Formats: sequence, structure tokens, C-alpha cells
Amino acid sequence: MPYQVAIKNNATGEVRLHPMSGEWDAVAEYDWMDGNNSCDCNRAGNFHTDVESDLPNYSEACGNSRYSIVYVLLPDGRKIDDFVKLVD
Ligand SMILES: [Zn+2]
Repeated sequence: MPYQVAIKNNATGEVRLHPMSGEWDAVAEYDWMDGNNSCDCNRAGNFHTDVESDLPNYSEACGNSRYSIVYVLLPDGRKIDDFVKLVD
């Protein structure tokens, strides 16, 4: 079942839900904690729309400070928000 990730733009405080296909499982958790989606470059792509990514101030730079994961929303409505590494 798909899940959604609440991604926060730390510069503006805005939080957006990004839908993901596939299960929330150990692989997905790893992806958001330590894998590709732990990096600002990929989180930026997931947060912003295609239109926004064409704007001049859009940045896909790598890092770990510009976007935070606030919680993961499961299909049954449960929120997973106790991942310290996801939130930092
Ligand atoms: Zn990166």
C-alpha cells in the first residue's frame, strides 16, 4: 500500500505530503533515513512541483539541513513520527 511522507521546507516552515508508491517497510525506512531520500537533493525533488523546479532559486544541492521529514502517514491513517533521524 502507498504511504505519504510529510516533508518540511525548513526555510519556510511549509509542510507538504508527498505520496510514495510501495510499502512502508524496512527498505523504505532506510531510504528516508540513510538512503537516497535522506539527502536534500532528492527531498527537494519530492517537495517541489515540476513548475517550481524551473524557478531560478530552486536548488537540488546535496545536504541534510534544508528539508526535514515530520512524519510518515500510513494508508490506515497511522502517523510514524518517532524517527529521530528522519526529523533532524
Ligand atoms: Zn544529494
